[in-house]
Amino acid sequence: MDAASGSCNACGVTGTALMKLSLGKDFFGRTYDRLSPSTDQSPKWYCEICSMQKNIQRDFRDILGEFDKLAAGHGSILSIQEEFQRASLRLREIAAILTGMAGQSPFLTSAAVTQLMGRMQTASVRT
Ligand SMILES: [Zn+2]
Repeated sequence: MDAASGSCNACGVTGTALMKLSLGKDFFGRTYDRLSPSTDQSPKWYCEICSMQKNIQRDFRDILGEFDKLAAGHGSILSIQEEFQRASLRLREIAAILTGMAGQSPFLTSAAVTQLMGRMQTASVRT
């Protein structure tokens, strides 16, 4: 597929610039654990809006995964205060982006983000 004739793999928009999304590093700068291993064999092409949202989804999943580990008492990068704060800020940013968007993101609901923000707030108050 070439960028000129293809459609976005997420929303299906055509006739706009598409970019091949390479998600090499996760939010915490670690080698990226692919989101959808079964479909990851073929390259994905996303329009600008969807690629931005795909990055948001990736960050959200990274943070959620680490927070779940933290909440379960396992080792987590979020036990580092700085990382926890950075993740909280990023979540707030994500929530703002989702709120500002027209329509629903195909990847992530703002309810999920709000819920995680609430959980993280509770955790940071406790420590
Ligand atoms: Zn799209």
